[in-house]
Amino acid sequence: MRGKPKKPPREKDLTTRFLSGNYDEDRADSSQQFKARNKTAEQDKILRTALLRAEEESGPDLETLPLGEVVQVFSRYSEVVHEGKTYLCVTRKTLTKVSNTQLVVGDRVRFRDVTSRDEDGKAGGDPDAPPEGVIEQIVPRTTILTRADSFKAITQHPIVANAQQMLIVASLRQPKVKWGLVDRMIVAAKSGGLKPVICLNKVDLAAEDPSTDVSASDEGQAGVDVLAFATEVLGHYGTMGIRSVKTSVEGRIGLEELREVLRDRVTVLSGHSGVGKSSLVRAIQPQLDLRVGEVSRYTDKGRHTTTSARRYLLDFGGSVIDTPGVKLFGLWGVTRENLPQYFPDVEAGTAPRWRRESYERILASLPADDYQTGGRT
Ligand code: GDP
Repeated sequence: MRGKPKKPPREKDLTTRFLSGNYDEDRADSSQQFKARNKTAEQDKILRTALLRAEEESGPDLETLPLGEVVQVFSRYSEVVHEGKTYLCVTRKTLTKVSNTQLVVGDRVRFRDVTSRDEDGKAGGDPDAPPEGVIEQIVPRTTILTRADSFKAITQHPIVANAQQMLIVASLRQPKVKWGLVDRMIVAAKSGGLKPVICLNKVDLAAEDPSTDVSASDEGQAGVDVLAFATEVLGHYGTMGIRSVKTSVEGRIGLEELREVLRDRVTVLSGHSGVGKSSLVRAIQPQLDLRVGEVSRYTDKGRHTTTSARRYLLDFGGSVIDTPGVKLFGLWGVTRENLPQYFPDVEAGTAPRWRRESYERILASLPADDYQTGGRT
């Protein structure tokens, strides 16, 4: 007899891996060494007890549970902020099955505080360990952003919930702004219920020699004053009620206006890498570093592969959600039939050529059949 088969090792080490920042789902099966074995066992026990307790306690009292906001999601855990405290939460197993949806950053959730406490009601165990919870309910979402790669899927693949606006960051040069892409992002934002706002960064590069801009001739604009053209484009967006702000981190331009745009709102950052998203965020709130944050949490990897969205609080009010690893958001619910509603200028016959081209390009990319029948989750 060989006895019982062993449990897979990953079951034992999850909490420590999460807490140490080593939880990397792409590498969940790789062999990693963890020194704090006792701590691991202790935390694992706490979490298992938490799950059991929550299973037992599940009752009709959902309304009385604390309401928190999901700031980061890992494959088996999430971080939920409630009254300034960050809880490490598991989700009730049946919840995602019943609601047929997965938890995403920005979700508002009812959760049960299951932090182990001593007899005086003080949090016991490891003083460095975060408080713990079990998510019992996801509050209906007001907005949703999906991944572009779920475009043809029957089911929606949500990535951010309840954000109010999308800051579409583009740079005047290096890399040169592609207005067609901005148009697509506008449709992605609107189709998810978010307000698009455009941030044109690196305006300090307006005076650069255009010949150094390899892509300047791409759209037949070689020799054209790029800033004048961009200003015209932003003016056109303005006629459709889309706000824009011109910024330069180098030249300290537009930063106060950008703060105003972000203040007290939940904003998803969108835009190609290299356009200056992290520089902008750092410029308006110096201690907030999107890239450094990842590196310090995932020290041994130096890159962030665990999750594709994270929310950061702004000290002047509001928050920004970064989605590293997500190149494009999906156009959920956008069909060949309803696309014109996202292009009122094309419908009205007032659209300039580049807008009509954007419209045609998006139209051609939409599937002929309407795959996306459902509304928002
Ligand atoms: P992200 O990938 O969108 O987060 O872009 P980064 O913030 O990492 O910026 C990419 C590069 O652009 C960095 O070398 C920045 O120093 C540079 N950069 C960012 N903002 C500006 C700006 O306003 N003007 C100029 N000239 N360079 C900028």
